[in-house]
Amino acid sequence: MKPTHIEHIGIAVNSIAEALPFYEKVLGLKCYNIEEVANQKVKTAFFMIGQTKIELLESTDPEGPVGRFIEKRGEGIHHIAFAVDQIEERLREAEAAGIRLIDTAPRKGAEGLSIAFLHPRSTFGVLTELCEDKKNENNK
Ligand code: ZN
Repeated sequence: MKPTHIEHIGIAVNSIAEALPFYEKVLGLKCYNIEEVANQKVKTAFFMIGQTKIELLESTDPEGPVGRFIEKRGEGIHHIAFAVDQIEERLREAEAAGIRLIDTAPRKGAEGLSIAFLHPRSTFGVLTELCEDKKNENNK
C-alpha cells in the first residue's frame, strides 16, 4: 500500500474548547481550522506538526461514531490516518488482503480529503483511515 506519511492522528475529546488550551498553550501549536463534518457527526479542530496533523474530534451526536467511542472507551486516540495515492485502488488491495472495510468506497472527510476507514478488528485494534488529498494531484 505504501502510505507516504501519517496524514493525521484523530483524538476523541469531550470538548474541543476544553482541549484547545493544552494544544495551544502547553504544546504551543496553532489551531488553524475548526470544521464540522456532518456525515461523521463530529466537530474537528486541526493542528499541524511537520506534515502530520492532529485532529481533535468532538462528537455532535451521542449516537455518532465518536460519541459511541467516548461512551465505551473514554477520551483518547481514536484513529490513525495514512496518506495514500489512488485511494480506490488501495481499498481494493486491502479488501483483497482480507481486511474488513468500514467504507467500501471513499467518502468526503474534513478538509476536502477522500477518506475510508478499515475496521479495527482487522487492524489490531487501531481504527485505520486511508486518505488522499485529491487537490494535490495536479502538483505531482
Ligand atoms: Zn481522520
